[in-house]
Amino acid sequence: MYAVISDVHGNLAALEAVLEDIGRRGAREVLFLGDAVGYGPEPNECVALIEERCTLRVAGNHDWAVLGLTNADLFNPLALAAIRWTEEALGMEARERMNAWPLVASLPEPDALLVHSGPEAPEEWPYVISRADASRALRFFKHRLCLLGHSHLPFIAEAGRTGEAEFLGGRAVFRTGMRYVINTGSVGQPRDGDPRACYLLLDGRSVELVRVEYPAEATQRKMRRAGLPEPLAARLSLGR
Ligand code: ZN
Repeated sequence: MYAVISDVHGNLAALEAVLEDIGRRGAREVLFLGDAVGYGPEPNECVALIEERCTLRVAGNHDWAVLGLTNADLFNPLALAAIRWTEEALGMEARERMNAWPLVASLPEPDALLVHSGPEAPEEWPYVISRADASRALRFFKHRLCLLGHSHLPFIAEAGRTGEAEFLGGRAVFRTGMRYVINTGSVGQPRDGDPRACYLLLDGRSVELVRVEYPAEATQRKMRRAGLPEPLAARLSLGR
């Protein structure tokens, strides 16, 4: 069994809670889908822990923005302020590690493509949110599954021969002849109205979205002390 995590965004308390839950459930490997940093107060600690615990890692748009590999001017003002703060805070070691993360990776079993944003243009960071987005994404990968993040809105979508994706609930058993687009949600800044950290458990037969409580106040306190924008701290209580 694999655990898949994404969009940690410098939220160490959330990452630790998720890794503890993963350990308890006995997942063999942890896979990371990008955005270790940006928004949160502990980017170096999160990169180090992801390096230590994850066997596969891909880069996200916030990771690339901090490294100067993608244009940060496209970020909204709050996200951009956090990117600038993170640029200052990030040490050489974390930088070098993140620099080695590719934009896409794949898994042999279950047969899956791993990418932060959409498979059609990973370096342009498209969002995959709606059923139409998921249906479109299916045309741009050959694997049975595509595992992605980026929107912080978790879903499991299934499609058969028509190529029209349907959203399932938070759990699904893989069916013969069907393909899947799966958004793992966000560990460190959920946006679906549920403030609990989100991740995914996966094996060759099924997939499940998991939610984990964590002490958001600890992260918020550190954000305020660091001078990160207040709305970024406040939203962690709301999951928005
Ligand atoms: Zn993100």
